[in-house]
Amino acid sequence: MARLLIIGCGGVAQVAISKCCQNSDVFEEIMIASRTVSKCEAMKEKLQDTTKTVIKTAQIDADDVDALTKLIKDYAPDAVLNVALPYQDLTIMDACLAAGVDYIDTANYEPEDTDDPQWRAIYEKRCKDLGFSAYFDYSWQWAYEDKFKNAGLTALLGTGFDPGVTSVFAAYAKKHYFDEIHTIDILDCNGGDHGYPFATNFNPEINLREVSAPGSYMENGKWVEIPAMSIKREYDFDGVGKKDMYLLHHEEIEALGRNMPEVKRIRFFMTFGQSYLTHMNCLENVGMLSTTPINFNGQEIVPIQFLKALLPDPASLGPRTVGKTNIGCIFTGIKDGKERSIYIYNVCDHQECYKEVGSQAISYTTGVPAMIGAMMVVTGQWKNPGVFTTDEFDPDPYMEALNKWGLPWQVVENPVLVD
Ligand code: NDP
Repeated sequence: MARLLIIGCGGVAQVAISKCCQNSDVFEEIMIASRTVSKCEAMKEKLQDTTKTVIKTAQIDADDVDALTKLIKDYAPDAVLNVALPYQDLTIMDACLAAGVDYIDTANYEPEDTDDPQWRAIYEKRCKDLGFSAYFDYSWQWAYEDKFKNAGLTALLGTGFDPGVTSVFAAYAKKHYFDEIHTIDILDCNGGDHGYPFATNFNPEINLREVSAPGSYMENGKWVEIPAMSIKREYDFDGVGKKDMYLLHHEEIEALGRNMPEVKRIRFFMTFGQSYLTHMNCLENVGMLSTTPINFNGQEIVPIQFLKALLPDPASLGPRTVGKTNIGCIFTGIKDGKERSIYIYNVCDHQECYKEVGSQAISYTTGVPAMIGAMMVVTGQWKNPGVFTTDEFDPDPYMEALNKWGLPWQVVENPVLVD
């Protein structure tokens, strides 16, 4: 029925590719195109005898708009799924526009070089105007709204778990459970243990930038920014148990804040173990999280990229990670004149994911929604000209697909609230 071009072949991409191959009725043909083509070929080799989906591969540098436009035109897919890095979001959107194809991704744009003066000037103005200082924000991709609308193309942004599923949960809560939502707390708990003193569950550079940045939340339409890791709560998660969690800035706060302005407060919490935090603080203190190149023995290196080369590849954590994740949203508000609160969440088991697709649960909980988002677009269930986040479409078919494709969810009334 559809042909999908998938860009990137890392931890998340490998799950999305496996799930597309399980869903051959929709994805009759896929092309895996990435910087290191040997990874694409290895995935093809692993999957081609297990699926009816026809798999092709290609080498591509997605920073090169002309080369990517040519690849898209030659392969002529129904859509492009970007599961490379957020650095490539804008070049891939440009190539999709040039080739006339729909676009889907899992994370919003941030620049690789945060010292670029042109980017920095816009960033600093945004920090001042809006009041949050994360390197990533939606403004860059929302600026493509008219281009996609005029071209009659759909761009679906952020269809991972968080952002992605969490925003679908918000749309679902609004549609079926509330007349008014007052607060949203997004909780991301990883109770998994990979046995290493320190490793990240997805791309280390993106992960460490996100976690070491100041936290922020939205209250009455305004951003409140706090020092990194300065708000900590303990929460007892179904399937995992008690964990410490910390308030972080996160993408969906920005999108939900814009699209559901009636919500009075939106926060995001993520769990971290003490070992992770101690390592991260130490690495930050010695300058290893810096994105500014330094000269070392006559060679220019970017400290955080060097660190990435030392850390375990997130795609290799699958066999050794045990435990579960619990990710969801607590909503409070009013239904039929009465106060109501619910928690919508998914529990995912690292080893079950590994048995099914050879990946740990963080890649799995991102790669499955990436496939589902692509399916929503190519089947026309979520198709509108313009640039959208996942809270802006009918949540029902997506929620149904989560149950079918490995991320079943549940709704609990009157959960323990986060103070
Ligand atoms: P990885 O680092 O494991 O994989 C990234 C892949 O992109 C690699 O295959 C890499 O190639 C490829 N790539 C990088 N640069 C280019 C380029 N210029 N051209 C072509 N290919 C390129 O990352 P993850 O799989 O962990 O993460 C993928 C995405 O998922 C990220 O954007 C991340 O932010 C997002 N994410 C979203 C989550 C959510 O819930 N919404 C949660 C977790 C991640 P090479 O093999 O050569 O390095």
